[in-house]
Amino acid sequence: MKNKPTTAWILVLLTVLACCSSASAATLEETLSQAMKSLGAARDDADLLMMTDAPYVRIDGRCALPYLERAQQITGCTVGKGNLLFFQRPQSHPLRLMLMKKGTGDAVIISKTENEWLSEKLNLGSSAIAAPSFWENAKKFEAGRDMFTLAAVANVWAKNGPYDFLKSAELHNHICPGLTSGYLIAHYVLDRYPVQPGERYTIVACPVWCKEDALQVVLDCTPGKKGMIVKRLSQAQRANIAVADPAGMLLIWDADKKSGRGVALSFDFDRLRALSPQDTPKAATVLAVLDHLDTPERFVSTAKEFDLNENLFNEIIRASGNPYEAAGLVKK
Ligand SMILES: [Zn+2]
Repeated sequence: MKNKPTTAWILVLLTVLACCSSASAATLEETLSQAMKSLGAARDDADLLMMTDAPYVRIDGRCALPYLERAQQITGCTVGKGNLLFFQRPQSHPLRLMLMKKGTGDAVIISKTENEWLSEKLNLGSSAIAAPSFWENAKKFEAGRDMFTLAAVANVWAKNGPYDFLKSAELHNHICPGLTSGYLIAHYVLDRYPVQPGERYTIVACPVWCKEDALQVVLDCTPGKKGMIVKRLSQAQRANIAVADPAGMLLIWDADKKSGRGVALSFDFDRLRALSPQDTPKAATVLAVLDHLDTPERFVSTAKEFDLNENLFNEIIRASGNPYEAAGLVKK
């Protein structure tokens, strides 16, 4: 009996403490408002970018979209305005929301940790990310694992990079020279080999690299729809290709007429590398290509065009075949 009031008081005290600690953790709305204030941004500011992995990650086993809805309400950033971008991550990845102000490059990255919304402020401007020291320092941030993704994509947005390039980055979850090569190849294909009625593209991804994710987005050639056939070659097979800088094949096929054309493509990475001084951090080399995205023929070329019949088409796309061997494009 004597202990009862004491126990009750302890319970009251614990409840008060619990309330106080939950009251002290800022809400997502408060954290975002504070971040916008520190960036000098108001709601609906067209120069404010929000980037997040919210459509992909799960929080406590649940879809994270409600957090995205709340963040949109506060920032006014939307897909339609082009200032809300996503990046794909595994479902177990932490939820992050980054706000960046065009012009200054100032940014706040908000990460959901177990107990709070953690804000980290830094400058992601193009000159800041061109310094190797930036990348050394980036590892110390809670959001360090996503820094390359956020920095490169945000700067491409800030420099008015094309939206289909940003969509390619969403699927690939970053922008790198390899993805950029795929974007250039996709536009070379659209410019040089527009499909005629009844025709469709099949991309033979061989050799395979980051480019395939831009080709999927820009050309709508996905493996699931059989618009992309992904084939990895051995080192010996690759060395035996009789095409300089091989970058896969384009097949333009008319299924009714059972005829088409094949194109072996080349991509010149030396030209892309030559746009930046040696040892430039990767994110900054991507920015150097932005002024050249509308001239893909500077980097992409046709190594060989050939006619396709049904046999050859099937031989190139079937599982066990080396497509270069089928097309007669090997050294011996
Ligand atoms: Zn990549």
